[in-house]
Amino acid sequence: MVAGSFAFGAFFIGLPSNSASALAAWALGDDGVLVFRTSKGANLKAFYQAADDIYGARLWVDFPGELIRPRRLKGTGPVNEIRLGKPTPGFTRFVVEFNPSVVLDPTKLRLLGVSPDRWALRLNGLSTRGLRTIGEGNLLPHGSKTLKKYNSLGATSVPLNLSTLPVVPRGRYRVVIDPGHGGPDPGAVGVGGIRESDVVLDISLQVAKLLKAKGVKVNLTRTTEVDLDLPPRVALANRLGASAFVSIHANASRVRNLDVNGIETFFFAGSSGNRLAANIQKQVLNVSPGSPDRGVRKGRFFVIRRTTMPAVLVETGFLTGRLDGKRLAKAPHRRKLALAIAKGILNYLRGLS
Ligand code: ZN
Repeated sequence: MVAGSFAFGAFFIGLPSNSASALAAWALGDDGVLVFRTSKGANLKAFYQAADDIYGARLWVDFPGELIRPRRLKGTGPVNEIRLGKPTPGFTRFVVEFNPSVVLDPTKLRLLGVSPDRWALRLNGLSTRGLRTIGEGNLLPHGSKTLKKYNSLGATSVPLNLSTLPVVPRGRYRVVIDPGHGGPDPGAVGVGGIRESDVVLDISLQVAKLLKAKGVKVNLTRTTEVDLDLPPRVALANRLGASAFVSIHANASRVRNLDVNGIETFFFAGSSGNRLAANIQKQVLNVSPGSPDRGVRKGRFFVIRRTTMPAVLVETGFLTGRLDGKRLAKAPHRRKLALAIAKGILNYLRGLS
């Protein structure tokens, strides 16, 4: 991390740093999407730095393994120059330097692992006027003809019919929803490279919308793919005096056992989170047929231990599981999970009045 810069990369298991560059091919498309092909499972880190007196805004990605031939390529449109260098022995740095007028919002930049050897970064907010596709190397191994769409999960829309959700007095309650992980911390990575941080953000945004539609005041600890330490998440909830705090996660089995599936919801012993946990657990199980009930359990996670209101952490399934993982990758299931969690929260709130 360079002072003043903003890291937004994803971390994966790394290669030994003395190997050849993990960067095999790259392209910056005229649609403003940067694509990399790397060796499998490479550990990438991405950074953004705003323009200063000397340089335009820069975005760079560090790859393990040393580049043989440092080089510069002239940019087009909003891009001034692309540089490939080796800032430190054993690494490759890929830099996009923009024209001085370009300003990007680093919280909207996401480097996504779309497969074990493929990455995509959409330059959100960049005007693509005059931008021409530029690249080096073959992005399409094995003779394949088309690039797979490098969308992450895609946003899922919230169902219009909210009548199945319990009614609580409008404006009386405030709930903090905490999408687990984010930014450089992808959380669990499941079958096919699906990332916990993406899955839980999608679910959480929908839960928030549903609760708001039912008259509950909602705060999200993060709304984009950014990293956030645990203390600010807790501080936010405590400061707001929320009625409930719900941290949403997805699980991974340590040995990536496909047969481990199930739903569990944690509360901190001695807190009043038990009933909130039971309500959520019940509803999530309802929309996860076949997935084992791992129960309402006592946990010591920071976010539920240090919050001053009833607080729970729900594990919506195992990304590494054959059953759960396949489901969590699908938008309709994530919508069901969002409805279930919202229903559990509303049932709990109804019990308070
Ligand atoms: Zn998690």
